[in-house]
Amino acid sequence: MPIESAKSSVSDFDSSNADNSIEPIEKRSIVDEELERVFEQLRIDTKNQDANRLDMVNAAIQYIRDQLKSESLDEDIKRQYVDKLVALQLEKQKIEECTETGKVVVIEKGHEFALQRSRGRHNPYCEVCMHTIWRLVQSWRRCEVCGFRAHDKCCQSVSQICPGVVVSKPDFELVTDFPTESTLLDQDFKCAECYSDVGYGSSSEPRLCSYTGQLYCKNCHWNDSLPLPATLVHSLDGSRRAVCRSAKRLLSLIENRPLIDMSRASPILIKCHSDFKRVQKFRRNFLYMKCYFVSCRNARKLRILQYLNQHQHFVEGADLYSIKELRLLCDGTLIRDLEGIHTVFRKHIEKECEICKGNGFYCELCETQDKSNEIIFPFSDDVSLCPICLASFHTKCFEKHSMHCPRCERRKRRLELKTNLSNPFDPPAEKPQQQSSNRSSEIRGNYSNS
Ligand SMILES: [Zn+2]
Ligand SMILES: [Zn+2]
Ligand SMILES: [Zn+2]
Ligand SMILES: [Zn+2]
Ligand SMILES: [Zn+2]
Ligand SMILES: [Zn+2]
Repeated sequence: MPIESAKSSVSDFDSSNADNSIEPIEKRSIVDEELERVFEQLRIDTKNQDANRLDMVNAAIQYIRDQLKSESLDEDIKRQYVDKLVALQLEKQKIEECTETGKVVVIEKGHEFALQRSRGRHNPYCEVCMHTIWRLVQSWRRCEVCGFRAHDKCCQSVSQICPGVVVSKPDFELVTDFPTESTLLDQDFKCAECYSDVGYGSSSEPRLCSYTGQLYCKNCHWNDSLPLPATLVHSLDGSRRAVCRSAKRLLSLIENRPLIDMSRASPILIKCHSDFKRVQKFRRNFLYMKCYFVSCRNARKLRILQYLNQHQHFVEGADLYSIKELRLLCDGTLIRDLEGIHTVFRKHIEKECEICKGNGFYCELCETQDKSNEIIFPFSDDVSLCPICLASFHTKCFEKHSMHCPRCERRKRRLELKTNLSNPFDPPAEKPQQQSSNRSSEIRGNYSNS
């Protein structure tokens, strides 16, 4: 069995995520206690004090599924069951993966601790006992999800839940607003994470985390600094602020995930900031270009969309951003990168590829001969689209015709002709009249009945 048995790690997951903390320290819930009884029963049934971890996880999953079938379940308990079920299923998946690859991983509080090499330049700190890890003489592990580092012997005593578990919860939402800063009095002179005593003028001075707005002891806050989602979202400011260890791990883990809906989080900035306007224009064009690429075998062969790299989600929607993208927007790198990709895409569609070129438009509203032969695309400069059928015209020509689309006009006429042909003796103009007279007689009938 490649997974080292980490006793009771499931029962220690804290499903009741407190509002402000990120990786809450264990607090036993009713669900935890119920599961502990399930495990106890399993040990008795199998006459095995050290029951197989996978069997325990399976038993817990089955138990929760049975409980969820009950209709009289309290909403809060139900949520706790669902959270726990998600964590258990993740753990089950991991155990099965590890069994296949033969890798030795210790799973504790959702962390996936893998053994590390003894060679290496730096001796890191153990985040459990806060002492140096002497790599040459002490074996140590690192969480493959969040990077949490600890002595091998300390892994079992970790109290923080892995941020990987926190972000996999269905109700996880990245905080993009500025937090309310709490005072020492609010926190009862305790660290917000480990609850050890903190106070000014002592060796345990509190440290403020700009992400949670809470105060921490020096073991839980190492003065790491990161750009904050709130300052990025509201003022496109990428300067670094001090954050606690938990926030650092969480923010690093989700840095590349498109979790920020800018049109909701900061609608004014996205509409008015010149850099944002440029990026939004690129993104809108990428969406049009994708329509060309999906129907082009040359583009598929070239795997042209892979140029987007970590910005793949740009061809799935228009408003989501990752923390990293906002940071790159601040230092100008994002616009430069997108400009490069945009040029490559345009060159393929407009110049290099016959298939894509064949899907371009002629401006039907052109009055001068030389311009009407030009092939235009929805993403070309000075081109406007019909909002209904997406046909492209020169902006000048479209405005001159009061945004009247000849293509839609033709469609409308064809449709009318079809309706007329299908009801040759029943002119459509008279039909509604007939219907309304029927209805009014119906209403009259109702009145006379009452
Ligand atoms: Zn972890
Ligand atoms: Zn340690
Ligand atoms: Zn602490
Ligand atoms: Zn093509
Ligand atoms: Zn034109
Ligand atoms: Zn149209």
